[in-house]
Amino acid sequence: MSYLILKDINKIYPNGFHAVHNFNLEIEKGEFIVFVGPSGCGKSTTLRMIAGLEQITKGDFYIDGEYCNDKGPRERGIAMVFQSYALYPHMSVYDNLAFSLTLQGIDEDIIEEKVKATAEILGLTDYLDRKPRALSGGQRQRVAVGRAIIRKVGVFLMDEPLSNLDAKQRVTMRSEITQIHRATGATTIYVTHDQTEAMTMADRIVVMKDGYIQQVGTPYELYFKPVNVFVAGFIGEPPMNFITGSVEGGKFYFGEENLDLSKVLDAEVIKKYEGKEMVFGFRPESIRLSDGEESDAYVFNSTVELTELLGDNTNVYADIDGIKSILKVNPHDTPKIDSSFTFAVPYKSVYIFDKETEEVIPTIEQ
Ligand code: ATP
Repeated sequence: MSYLILKDINKIYPNGFHAVHNFNLEIEKGEFIVFVGPSGCGKSTTLRMIAGLEQITKGDFYIDGEYCNDKGPRERGIAMVFQSYALYPHMSVYDNLAFSLTLQGIDEDIIEEKVKATAEILGLTDYLDRKPRALSGGQRQRVAVGRAIIRKVGVFLMDEPLSNLDAKQRVTMRSEITQIHRATGATTIYVTHDQTEAMTMADRIVVMKDGYIQQVGTPYELYFKPVNVFVAGFIGEPPMNFITGSVEGGKFYFGEENLDLSKVLDAEVIKKYEGKEMVFGFRPESIRLSDGEESDAYVFNSTVELTELLGDNTNVYADIDGIKSILKVNPHDTPKIDSSFTFAVPYKSVYIFDKETEEVIPTIEQ
């Protein structure tokens, strides 16, 4: 049996707003799960229901086989790290770390041992006497994580814990949290709206939108096998390019251009979509420069509108017959603004979606 089980979980707030719909998920012991999605999609609400801070309106929630819907936050064996750190400002780092253990009446010697061991894992040994105000944002965040891990609970919940840090600190803390997770082996649920955090930290990602789970999978599965337009566009940076067009005579028409769909779809599928609309997707990083002749790829002609040199690559903002797209190229191949730019999208890197349902249409395995 899975360690955490969320079965048909729903949240309807007292004002009638249905924030989470039929959320189903089983989490194994030791997994690092990330809930990701845009603002308002219901990730924090779901986390707070797991924590016991929010009543579950409908559905069943189990931890280690025990029904937990009616259990209070303290009875669930859960520690939570919030975005705001929630440190005690008048207490030293040592006392902040020791606080929950002191409350439990644990022996001073054991507390000291645990505080020192936790500080060691988090690189806080030299700061134990300081008050939070004398720490950097990253160090404060580490104390907040330390307060959670010192309790040796079964489940850690983290709600956007890195959002108050600058970009560089976020990258450092990201790998630190992953390493702490590896060291403690604790089951962790982590909420973020940042797909990069989700991709780099998670064993499995839960993508949410408007209160519904869109897809659950490993970072690899979500990137290479998105189930719909939303997931395809949400995972990956810059996002996937989408072109809407219609199917006529086995071809995909958009603007003045057309593409032979038999290169990527089975004949039966093409027939089914005759006269209907599809969405053609490709990732900015899947393109290559082309001289116009390709045997394993579609060729696109575009006009360069803007380029952004990022160092390891250049983002090219290009117009394909009226459709805006972003392409990633080697910085040495950066094209000139207003020049025409011909590129190829390998058939194996193409995604096709149903325009109406927005669900993926499986392509031929290349
Ligand atoms: P964010 O990243 O902005 O925190 P989120 O995905 O965590 O977003 P939630 O905080 O779970 O989103 O909120 C989900 C939806 O529920 C939102 O539309 C929000 O306005 C609504 N909501 C949250 N709390 C309440 C409440 N107490 N009463 C009514 N609606 C609420």
